[in-house]
Amino acid sequence: VLEARNLSKRYGNQKILDNVSLQIAEGEVVVIIGPSGSGKSTLLRILNGLEDIQSGEIYFQGRKVEANEQVWQKLRPEIGMVFQSYDLFPNKTVLENCTVAPVKVQGRKLEEVRGLVERLLEKVGLAGYADRMPSQLSGGQQQRVAIVRTLAMQPKVLLLDEITAALDPEVVQDVLRVILDLAEEKTTMLIVTHEMGFARQVSDRVIFLDRGVIVEEAATDKFFDKPETQRAREFIDAVE
Ligand code: ATP
Ligand code: MG
Repeated sequence: VLEARNLSKRYGNQKILDNVSLQIAEGEVVVIIGPSGSGKSTLLRILNGLEDIQSGEIYFQGRKVEANEQVWQKLRPEIGMVFQSYDLFPNKTVLENCTVAPVKVQGRKLEEVRGLVERLLEKVGLAGYADRMPSQLSGGQQQRVAIVRTLAMQPKVLLLDEITAALDPEVVQDVLRVILDLAEEKTTMLIVTHEMGFARQVSDRVIFLDRGVIVEEAATDKFFDKPETQRAREFIDAVE
């Protein structure tokens, strides 16, 4: 579904990503792990057209994505992204937060989108919350609304960047549960996380990024049980 070939990114003369290539097939869940500052968020932002690159190519559904904002505006609903900071519109209800983009950007019918959003809210454990304001929800509930808001656009692939990092520990599991359910339904996802237990449970494959380079990539069980590189071994031991 989504592929990156030889991406390189610099800020000034600092190399952030160096020749990074990856592929995500339909129905696959891939986790990216790596130390702070290794370039994980930058990589996801590039795959959502939010950062320019010095070299490399992105392919979506087999087609090369041209590097211009107009192309990305069309593509962003297809490559849904959820961030650490969920940024709901504070003056809109939960329902409005989730219907505005599908209706205004994608031109879909409000009735159809509303039905979908109501089903999705139920799925994430928020049935009956449609008319609440974001300020009346906990952080974990708001993040689940943010996930529904992205899913309402019916993306072909979901990019998740540390979506539980800003949450209180008690509500982290509620949000991870939602992602595990999506994985079970074969939602295609590329996930950045520091939660190693979750990474192991949710993913088919792991990409280990260190200082902008993919140091190791392997099937999940193999990665955690028998990493090939010393660097990955140290990282797993340090965080587990
Ligand atoms: P974390 O686990 O802490 O979220 P990360 O792996 O997501 O880290 P990035 O946020 O992608 O890391 O940052 C990679 C590198 O790029 C870091 O060294 C960071 O300082 C640098 N960087 C990120 N954004 C900018 C920017 N706008 N200008 C200059 N340098 C930046
Ligand atoms: Mg990050």
